[in-house]
Amino acid sequence: MEKRKKLKPWNEAMRLNHRGLKLFCKRYPQMVLSRFISVIWTALAPYVGIYLSALIIDEIAGKRDMERLQFLVTITLLCAALIALGSALLGKWRETQNAGLGLKMLGIYSEKLFGMDYADLDKTETAELLSTIRQNQNGNGWGLYRMLGSYEALCSAVLTLLGGISLTVSLFLSRVPESAGAYTVLNHPIFVVLVIAVMLAITYIAPALSNKAVSYWALNVDSHRLGNRMFGFFGRLGYQREIATDVRMYRQDRMCEKYNRDKNNTFGSNGLFAHLSLGPMGFYSAASSAMSVVFTGVAYVFVCLKAWAGAFGLGAVTQYVASITKVSGGVSGLISTLGDMRNNASFLETVFQFLDIPNNMYQGSLTVEKRSDRKYQVEFRNVSFKYPGSDNYALRNVNMNFEIGKRLAVVGMNGSGKTTFIKLLCRLYDPTEGEILLNGIDIRKYNYAEYMMLFSVVFQDFKLFALKLGENVGARADYDNDLVLESLKKAGFSEKLTDMQSGVETYLYKDYDKDGVNVSGGEAQKIAIARALYKNAPFIILDEPTAALDPVAEAEIYSRLNDIVGDRTAIYISHRLSSCKFCDEIVVFHEGGVVQQGAHASLVADENGKYFELWQAQAQYYTE
Ligand code: ADP
Repeated sequence: MEKRKKLKPWNEAMRLNHRGLKLFCKRYPQMVLSRFISVIWTALAPYVGIYLSALIIDEIAGKRDMERLQFLVTITLLCAALIALGSALLGKWRETQNAGLGLKMLGIYSEKLFGMDYADLDKTETAELLSTIRQNQNGNGWGLYRMLGSYEALCSAVLTLLGGISLTVSLFLSRVPESAGAYTVLNHPIFVVLVIAVMLAITYIAPALSNKAVSYWALNVDSHRLGNRMFGFFGRLGYQREIATDVRMYRQDRMCEKYNRDKNNTFGSNGLFAHLSLGPMGFYSAASSAMSVVFTGVAYVFVCLKAWAGAFGLGAVTQYVASITKVSGGVSGLISTLGDMRNNASFLETVFQFLDIPNNMYQGSLTVEKRSDRKYQVEFRNVSFKYPGSDNYALRNVNMNFEIGKRLAVVGMNGSGKTTFIKLLCRLYDPTEGEILLNGIDIRKYNYAEYMMLFSVVFQDFKLFALKLGENVGARADYDNDLVLESLKKAGFSEKLTDMQSGVETYLYKDYDKDGVNVSGGEAQKIAIARALYKNAPFIILDEPTAALDPVAEAEIYSRLNDIVGDRTAIYISHRLSSCKFCDEIVVFHEGGVVQQGAHASLVADENGKYFELWQAQAQYYTE
């Protein structure tokens, strides 16, 4: 079992909850308002009924004035109808405002993810944090979701308490007549204080016991998270289409089954939470319920004794029992909600740990010069780079200048730093040492969004959306149809396009449309190339552009590369050297550094160079 956590101090817990509420007030003020107004309405409405029915019962038990009785009944019915109407209207408003609450939460996290420095997004810690938040939310809504509920409950408890108190005060003030003999003890202040103390004690103990039970979730947050994670993984394995072949091939369903049936896992019948439920959690929970019943008993005894002794009429008995129960409900609601907010604090802390990840990347404001001749000069000046959290240099002392409008090939073995070089060029990361210059100015000084517009990159692990083909190519919903067609044609996708019944309107994959088309790895890559062409940026970068293509498709793409690229500056990353022969300039990476640079003919002539070695290694497959 993992180490148990401590609960947060009260002030810290409340600070975290308030921060959560403020976040929603700022983003979704109507939603928060609809929740609070509904709660106020729901909390106050019952008192109208309690008060009016007491008047009716008193009238029946007392003067029995028919006219007044009729009046009271009419008013009661009218109020009930108005309250029901108000509740329905408010309920609808609340429902509309709160529709898609899950999506609203996702929106908060997505916005953070979209705006985060790529370097942070790429960190394992960030992924861990996000996954923890999700797992916590899946288990009992811990985090933002629960916080919203807590404030509602808090508001409801306070109102219930105030309403209850206002109707209960007279219970303690109304006196038993002196003629009642021994019952006059009920009038004695010490007795009254004693009764109030007993009731308050029970009222306090019941939710305190319940909070104690719930606190086991917060105290075992790590086990809970791990259990939820495993549950999520094994429980959903069958739903994942992309692993369906592996699952069948290796019968991985047996592994799932073993986990799902394992009684010892976190939520299994012999697991941690089962033990806690059977043990302390269950005990505290049961004791809390028992205490609530004891309270009702004490309330009834006290109220009935006073009525029996003649302190008030029959009608008041129902009012007092109902309102005293409300007071107790209010107090216990208050205590349990405050306790719940404290229990939730450590989960909220995780949420804010994620939302508070700072953007450390320097954001310059310089405008990128828009050049119709696309003459952009890029220079790497003594650039070294270590990935965050890594001690090793992925790139070391890279110096390079590239000429505009040329085709540059970047070659080298796996792990030699080719992709890292591109990521630095596109400012997904900033160099650890040295600088990268665009037209003589450090790229950090440019406006980031404008700088990004200079590059079209087809990354090796690019992803397409299960949306329309046109939307994928244009990367927007209102894409330019002709430009999409032209880009697809240049990328060599025309033939496949003629098979697609709805043309560029055809959905890729079948996630959102049963007539969607599944594309092969090679076809997907062509679409990704078309997307890069559509963007029409001055630099086009293809990271292993042909890795997923068959040899015929590869030859076809390469024979047309010049046409595809046009007057852009093109950078190809490849470890198939034969594909790069046509490039004006080839840069050879090895262990994070540039070891050679030049045209194919001169590089291959240097028999001591890395390029010659790589060339020979690959050539043997073709020359035998
Ligand atoms: P190539 O593209 O030439 O195959 P990369 O640029 O991907 O090589 O990788 C260069 C080095 O950086 C390798 O040692 C690799 O393990 C390391 N590396 C790549 N990505 C990361 C990352 N996100 N975090 C830490 N190290 C990384």
